[in-house]
Amino acid sequence: MPRKVFIIPAVIVFILVVALVHANQNTDALQSRTRFLMDTYCTIKIPGGTEVLDVIDTAFDRMAEVQRTFDSLDPESPIHAFNDENVTITNPEIVALIKTALEVGDESGGAFDITVFPLVNLWGFFGDSPAVPDREKIDELLNAVDYRHLSIKAGTLVKDDARVKIDLGGIAKGYAIREAVAVLKKAGITSALIDAGGEIYALGTNKGKPWKIGIRDPRGEGTVGVLELTDCTVATSGDYERYFEKDGKRYHHILDPKTGYSAEGITSVTVVTDDPAVADAWSTALFVLGKEKGRELMERNKFLKVLMITQDGEFISSNM
Ligand code: AMP
Ligand code: MG
Repeated sequence: MPRKVFIIPAVIVFILVVALVHANQNTDALQSRTRFLMDTYCTIKIPGGTEVLDVIDTAFDRMAEVQRTFDSLDPESPIHAFNDENVTITNPEIVALIKTALEVGDESGGAFDITVFPLVNLWGFFGDSPAVPDREKIDELLNAVDYRHLSIKAGTLVKDDARVKIDLGGIAKGYAIREAVAVLKKAGITSALIDAGGEIYALGTNKGKPWKIGIRDPRGEGTVGVLELTDCTVATSGDYERYFEKDGKRYHHILDPKTGYSAEGITSVTVVTDDPAVADAWSTALFVLGKEKGRELMERNKFLKVLMITQDGEFISSNM
């Protein structure tokens, strides 16, 4: 009975081929890939067949490029040279993002301040073992923390004090998402979800319905609400992202540029708007501003939809 031996594999191969073709044409499928970038897991999901996976990889490659360009700790980065050797920055991509950062700095009355680098470094938030520094050291470094030391002259970023160092950690992730969205759109993708460690862009719809995005409970495992989004971004800044506790007090990575210490009063700020870089910067800015000043700014800036959660568990929302 040798015939049977050949028939069975042939049937299996046929079924596999049919299944693969079906999977490739299955419009209900959601293609997804994850890559570790910018200190977090980034996931891109696109409804459709497996042919979109290459586009996802290209979007991740662009995000990795953005990460390298804006990494103030990378000796190859122009930002590193600006910080350590006072080399002016002419790279138009960096100058353009810094222009946005300075605008949010101005509009937030200095709550968003990219010259916090020396403080973030002193607190050890770039490394794995942050600790409370001496107050004298904080006060000394505060002398060189003020974004008004920076200016853009004929497309070149300059500083008027050599001690000034910049850190784009509060805005670069949003910019990387903006660039990933551009890659997807250029490849003809009209629906996608890009998630970079909690900062998300919802492109188009998920099979005709808005993308559903949960807002994380800053003090629990679950969510405090769900947003339905199409063609916009949601950024959250939280005191649970990078923190340590000392003598019962929580110290986290979002610093108040006026005091040199972690901003107090808020546990998370979620911002929804069109531009991911703007959302990223404003979520950090509103976190520093806190309840009262934050409320004023939310009301003034109608293009920002905001949900702020205070340390007392109060929810403050605007334009949502
Ligand atoms: P985010 O998670 O977007 O709120 O950004 C926090 C990161 O931005 C920190 O890890 C620092 O690198 C940087 N940062 C901290 N405080 C500030 C501030 N007041 N203004 C601008 N950037 C900040
Ligand atoms: Mg931010």
